[in-house]
Amino acid sequence: MSSVHKNRPSHKRKESEANPSAEPQADDVGQVDWREQTFNDGLTGPVEKVSTPQDLITQSRTVMIDIDPQYLTPTLFDSGKGTRATRLYHQTVCHWLDRHPLGKKAEVRSTGSGLHALFHLEPVVVFGSTADRDLWATVVRAMQNTLPCDPNAPGLTALTRPIGSTNSKNDRKVKQLRPGEPIAPEEILQFVDDLRRRPFATVAGILYGADRITPCPVCKANGSTLAALDRVGRCYARCGTVKLVQLVGSFMSDPSTRGEE
Ligand SMILES: [Zn+2]
Repeated sequence: MSSVHKNRPSHKRKESEANPSAEPQADDVGQVDWREQTFNDGLTGPVEKVSTPQDLITQSRTVMIDIDPQYLTPTLFDSGKGTRATRLYHQTVCHWLDRHPLGKKAEVRSTGSGLHALFHLEPVVVFGSTADRDLWATVVRAMQNTLPCDPNAPGLTALTRPIGSTNSKNDRKVKQLRPGEPIAPEEILQFVDDLRRRPFATVAGILYGADRITPCPVCKANGSTLAALDRVGRCYARCGTVKLVQLVGSFMSDPSTRGEE
């Protein structure tokens, strides 16, 4: 991956203005709290040097889904060894990704406190117009909505953390849990199109691997079953019609119990 120092773009005026310093700094040593752009040139560096407002983003390199244990129900990471993030990966998230048509190709990093699933685009998508950028902002949101994640997480402007950098919240190093492989932008667009036509069935397939879920994950009533239809779910025991937000919500933690590890 490139760094702001060795790959400082001199040919793009806006970016060199945003990253004016080529002087090595103390933070370089452990790359403490460095970030990596999922957009533009994929620069790495301190957050204030690499974060970029959406209207200055000219290309998308990676679709990122931020999966943070603090937003998820603890039964998703209550077994195995290691940090909450690594347990969450091995117990739950690796299965979600293996059922996701694109998830098998996603890179996953443990950021020290959570997981970043990274869908690397090849070729990089260059925006020819504002409409292109708006389209991809919508595509990133749609991809994020296929997994339980922080609803306020950034979309197109997301920053990941470089492998080997240090997370100062807990002094942990950022680690790669699985390597990714390149994904053609057309594959992402096709998936999002399928998702638009069959949102409930697609997400139920990723999260539960089935189109009939027993017991119903929303009411959990004895003998209940949730049938995943294209656009909604149907629970014949208690819930009646179940919306996608309820299905995804069955994985989310109670907001009053949320906190860092
Ligand atoms: Zn139910």
